[in-house]
Amino acid sequence: MVLAGGTIYASPDNAPIRGGVVVIEGGNIAAIGPSGAVPLPPDAAVLDCAGCAITAGFWNCHVHFFERKWANVDAIPAAELSRQLQEMLTQYGFTSVFDLSSPWANTLRLRERIESGEAAGPAIRSTGEGLVPPGAVPPDEVLEIMSVMKTPMPEVADAEQAAAAALRLLDQGVDGIKLFASSPRGATLPESVMAAAATEAHRAGKPVFVHPNSTADVESAVCAGADIVAHTTPRSGPWSEDLIALMRARRVALTPTLTLWKYYLRHDRVSTREQVVATAIGQLRASLAAGGEVLFGSDLGAVDYDPAEEYALMAEAGMTFRQILAALTTAPAQRFGEGARRGRIAPGFAADLAVLQGHHEAGPQALGAVRTLHPACRRGGVQCERAPGAGITGALTWAAVAGWFSEEQDPASPPACCEVAGTRTTPVGNPPPARHRSLGRLGGQAGPAERWLRPTWDARTPVSTASPGRPPGHIR
Ligand SMILES: [Zn+2]
Repeated sequence: MVLAGGTIYASPDNAPIRGGVVVIEGGNIAAIGPSGAVPLPPDAAVLDCAGCAITAGFWNCHVHFFERKWANVDAIPAAELSRQLQEMLTQYGFTSVFDLSSPWANTLRLRERIESGEAAGPAIRSTGEGLVPPGAVPPDEVLEIMSVMKTPMPEVADAEQAAAAALRLLDQGVDGIKLFASSPRGATLPESVMAAAATEAHRAGKPVFVHPNSTADVESAVCAGADIVAHTTPRSGPWSEDLIALMRARRVALTPTLTLWKYYLRHDRVSTREQVVATAIGQLRASLAAGGEVLFGSDLGAVDYDPAEEYALMAEAGMTFRQILAALTTAPAQRFGEGARRGRIAPGFAADLAVLQGHHEAGPQALGAVRTLHPACRRGGVQCERAPGAGITGALTWAAVAGWFSEEQDPASPPACCEVAGTRTTPVGNPPPARHRSLGRLGGQAGPAERWLRPTWDARTPVSTASPGRPPGHIR
């Protein structure tokens, strides 16, 4: 298969290739380059990507397959399973995910059904059931209200139990260990208990994720050996310089889950909600300033599937387009040992791709969706997806906000983000839904995206040696 005519962002560090082609063979990328410079296989199917941007497939490093819809996954017809995966993940360009606690036997079967080619979906990694302090598992009635499956999470009271629980999960083939540092009711996993589990995970070469509820949780988990902090903790105030320095020194990564706070506080007063979200954004900003690593993660399964808002909030924390792209692609691929196989578009890499469609000048009717290509190895052929219906996806909304397409426009007239954002779910002529209207603001004269639309944005962007002489005012 050949993807022809798009603008290819091979990695966050490379200059884009305009009018490029990507050749896919047997689920892997065989070649990439400018049109005309790459020989095309004579019989290849060609996917016209004119007007699209092509990136490596995205990672979401904090999801849960614990919603009721995944229960008894073997009984779900393959077509329905594919639709559910598309609705949650692949329509937004996610081709790899890390599940951070769900019923492992069930999630394993889900993965097997995808890997066998029976259902179309992303590559799944999972920690299986997370370890919790005694008494931390919510009562069944609460799980019922939350619409999540009953998950047999191991309650560990001491180091010995924690090590044993971690070993049992590792023996069952999980890809990492998840620790819930404390419960909402106040019980905590002491540092020594978390360290015992972390030691077993690291001995098996697997990463350790921690769900913290407070700054103190972050600190003890990092000292215990956690590799990835799975949330910001806005309810305990800003993170101190010492804490951020500690995370940096131990190479601890962060999945910000900013939208989650907005969602959890949707019943609270606006001022309360804004303050909490601002604190979370501040924690991310401070981590970035210290050179901390960010892996995109949204606690998917607990929040709305559309990632557009998470992108916008990450931008508000000061992340540039390329930093967000790195958090979606190269950083997680590297972190989880797949840096030579995923996260970039290069020969020999898996053909995990996100094709972001949309020349918004063409009008709403022409706006397509993210097409997610995912490998490949799952059945020896590339599966191509197209999100249902007209309209654009969160990824494209983000793309427009980020000014991806502004390079092909007069930089003096910013991209029509308002219209782009507004058309996502609304027929032409109707006012955009409120949620997207707020994104529309980003395309105006004020707001975080303005930074991206200004020429000065270049100053904070890694300069690519491959694009010298770019006229002033161009944005990348
Ligand atoms: Zn979570």
